[in-house]
Amino acid sequence: MSVVLVVNSGSSSFKYQLIDMRSERVLATGLVERIGDAQGRARHTVHAQADPEVGAESATAEIERRIPDHTAGFQAMLDAFAEHGPSLAQHAPIAVGHRVVHGGARFFAATPIDDLVEINIDELSVLAPLHNPGALQGIRAARRAFADVPHVAVFDTAFHQTMPPEAYTYALDRELAERHRIRRYGFHGTSHRFVSEAAAAYVGRPVEKLRQIVFHLGNGASATAIDGGRSVDTSMGFTPLEGLVMGTRTGDLDPAILLHLQRRAGLGVDDLDRVLNKESGLLGLAGANDMRDLVARHRDGDEAATLALDVYLHRLRGYAGAYMAQLGGVDVISFTAGVGENVPIVRAGALDRLAFAGVRVDPERNEKAPRGEIARISADDSDVTVLVVPTDEEVEIARQTLAVCS
Ligand code: ADP
Repeated sequence: MSVVLVVNSGSSSFKYQLIDMRSERVLATGLVERIGDAQGRARHTVHAQADPEVGAESATAEIERRIPDHTAGFQAMLDAFAEHGPSLAQHAPIAVGHRVVHGGARFFAATPIDDLVEINIDELSVLAPLHNPGALQGIRAARRAFADVPHVAVFDTAFHQTMPPEAYTYALDRELAERHRIRRYGFHGTSHRFVSEAAAAYVGRPVEKLRQIVFHLGNGASATAIDGGRSVDTSMGFTPLEGLVMGTRTGDLDPAILLHLQRRAGLGVDDLDRVLNKESGLLGLAGANDMRDLVARHRDGDEAATLALDVYLHRLRGYAGAYMAQLGGVDVISFTAGVGENVPIVRAGALDRLAFAGVRVDPERNEKAPRGEIARISADDSDVTVLVVPTDEEVEIARQTLAVCS
């Protein structure tokens, strides 16, 4: 058996997937949450045909009990496997892959975890205080629960470590920037890599020969310019706040606005952090961050929803054009994640001014793109192939984990 367990851990919850890598089929998924609360919860889903006992339908079990820490969380997960299957004796993971948000400038590839790597991930918490500490808690508990197999860290930032200095350097005082490790790191790298490789396979050309732009449009959103399989520019920067308009984040903003808000509105550092990350973006513009609501309201003539959508699309067009310029042209443009996979007017609107550059989206293909599979939405006479590509970060983490271990 070639089974990999993928873990995505935060400070009070973790998600997991058990994947059979021969077929890349998911055997079980789960979520352990409210770690540290008075009442914790584990939700465990055994996927269809993973276990003959379960039959053709997926089955979900819920466990409610106190889960004081991540170690207890992994015990709850092991109990769920023991009680509801699939059997971990039969489907024993040969490795565990961990999603880690920040690898800084230190980690440029998936890395087997030892005590020194743990120390490095901990030290990088300075750059990702909301993410790396939770990942580390998950790693430590998982290494105890699965002590006999290798554990691998797969970093969101790693794919973007190929960016050239002119793309990752901010025009700040160099000494100040270096002292505080301020540079563009980029995020969503696991998804951008998965999607660009899936797109290359779909068009039947080696990834090394393609210039690609990938738009990962979920609640968080980013665009990446990929030349020959290597990230050469990406819209998220020092943190995941920069770039595109997101569900609740501003994306690009004149930094002097922060100074103005500090001086004139009396906002402190924590207020600004909250405003920029949690109260802005689509939510700030129109009071909702779910694109389904916004599109429905826009169709009903709601002015705020229309403005929010227009601002969102204006930003996407800017990045599409900028990355075509950085790449010197583009062969494939892909849309992925919640919004990218499901919202045709966003895909059409992002590219609607690029006919002069040979980008033509076919309106019917775009509207009718089937959910959950790769679909070409460009017209037959389009010089550039435009695709919808469902992302799968867990499978990508499992692939990289396996590659490191074999
Ligand atoms: P993340 O992983 O960043 O939390 P997702 O990739 O799951 O986000 O995307 C979530 C967003 O995708 C939602 O906020 C919603 O706006 C949008 N979304 C998801 N499904 C649909 C759909 N069927 N139609 C329109 N928008 C959708």
